[in-house]
Amino acid sequence: MIQSDHSTHSMICCCCTLHTRATSTRLQLDGGSGSSLCLQGRQQPGHAHRVERSRRKLPHPPPEGDLSLEGAGLVKVIAMYDFVAKEDNGLTLTQGEEYIILHKQDQLWWRAQDRHGNKGFIPSNYVTERNRIEANSWFCKNVTRTEAERLLRHQDKEGGFVVRESSHRGVYTVSLYTKMLSPDGDVRHYQIKVSDGGWFYLVERHTFSSIAEVIRYHQHNAAGLVTRLRYAVGPMGRCATAGFSSEKWEIDPGELTFTRELGGGQFGLVRLGKWRARHNVAIKTIREGAMLEEDFIEEARVMMRLCHPKLVQLYGVCLRQRPLLIVAEFMENGCLLNILRQRGRALEGAWLLSTCQDVCEGMEYLEARNFLHRDLAARNCLVNENNVVKVSDFGLTRFVLDDQYVGSSGAKFPVKWSPPEVLHFSKYSSKSDVWSFGVVMWEVFSEGRTPFENRSNPEVVNDVTGGVRLYRPTRASPAVYDIMYCCWHEKPDGRPSFSELLDEIRKLADAD
Ligand code: ADP
Repeated sequence: MIQSDHSTHSMICCCCTLHTRATSTRLQLDGGSGSSLCLQGRQQPGHAHRVERSRRKLPHPPPEGDLSLEGAGLVKVIAMYDFVAKEDNGLTLTQGEEYIILHKQDQLWWRAQDRHGNKGFIPSNYVTERNRIEANSWFCKNVTRTEAERLLRHQDKEGGFVVRESSHRGVYTVSLYTKMLSPDGDVRHYQIKVSDGGWFYLVERHTFSSIAEVIRYHQHNAAGLVTRLRYAVGPMGRCATAGFSSEKWEIDPGELTFTRELGGGQFGLVRLGKWRARHNVAIKTIREGAMLEEDFIEEARVMMRLCHPKLVQLYGVCLRQRPLLIVAEFMENGCLLNILRQRGRALEGAWLLSTCQDVCEGMEYLEARNFLHRDLAARNCLVNENNVVKVSDFGLTRFVLDDQYVGSSGAKFPVKWSPPEVLHFSKYSSKSDVWSFGVVMWEVFSEGRTPFENRSNPEVVNDVTGGVRLYRPTRASPAVYDIMYCCWHEKPDGRPSFSELLDEIRKLADAD
């Protein structure tokens, strides 16, 4: 958990209509979740002097060999994702295989053993207990109807299927792809029903005592489905994004090679490169004088341990030389803002919503760990080769050394992404990230326009304080607009949490 100051990137606008509503309005999102909502802020790097933060002390890693708990309670788990161990003390995971947990070193990294007796560290959120539904390769936990369709069409395999939790918790749906009905492919959705006697089924005359048995049966028999369940499709996010190792966060610059330039940012150049000649990585070169390096280095240990399929993974830092290098997951399709601007109309409505869902999932993970982003904006989200969107640059604004990032009057401060309490009192919280998230939704649905385009930063401070809010972009339905609007409640407590927002977005995506 963390915190600290601000920073900004101001964006300049053109013509925008402003939409005003009383800021005290509390909106009930449809579905009656009881969440009340409100607004956003783009937080960027902040200045050291202004930063107040609680520094979390990291647990000391146990010395190699001192794994006293090893063998104590042998928990068997199944890998939900592939993970390639990149350090000697890591253990490679293969999706669907069983492992024994030897020692839970901390929340993130566990020591495990595979069936050949190999031992090493694995990221704990890549595995699940054996008897849970998550342990099945066909199960996709946080996948909406739209995403399931996207996934199945992308794979384009006859009989491709996923089992997903529907927006009503505890209800599961099978989404199945077939080309039998049309050459372009069709996706059928079947709800798994439960009989009065507690039996599970897809087709009434074939009932079973568990969902796994239902699936197993229909893997062999269409028995009323449009085709049988031939091919279990893993979720998009099933790519290893965990860090390179459990402890080692310092990267040897001799193991990096540079390929090409990807872009330039506040801290300096970002380049594509390879680590150990094998793994593609993005390498950020920190310009001298651009960053509070010592504070960052301390914090990087915490940031490296943040590990989620919708967060751009920080792999490590080259500490001992200058310029400092930050090594992170490479995102093939670059910055979300560019994609929105370049592809505009060509982007499907479902993709716009699933983009918001991706960002919300990453932010929910940060919220649960009390980690504040402080500069959430479309420019700080990146897109990978599968068009999955991930949140980047979380917490980095605290280490920016640039007076223009300090205080809401700084020219680079993300005023248009910031809620009133940040603009006036530099008060950051997960709820200030929620405000920013509402603005990101707005950016997404307006295809990359700049919020409050024709207003200067001081004008926006006045407007927002007086209750002015961003208008509804034409591509946003009233239901989508309700969600973003709820993020802009005047008071932080009036805004929903990311986990509430995620429920609402999933419901919408499922209803599509
Ligand atoms: P800074 O944090 O220094 O402001 P950014 O993170 O905004 O820099 O990066 C600048 C540009 O570099 C981005 O807009 C993007 O195009 C590219 N970039 C940054 N990180 C990555 C990455 N992990 N993968 C691919 N491209 C990246």
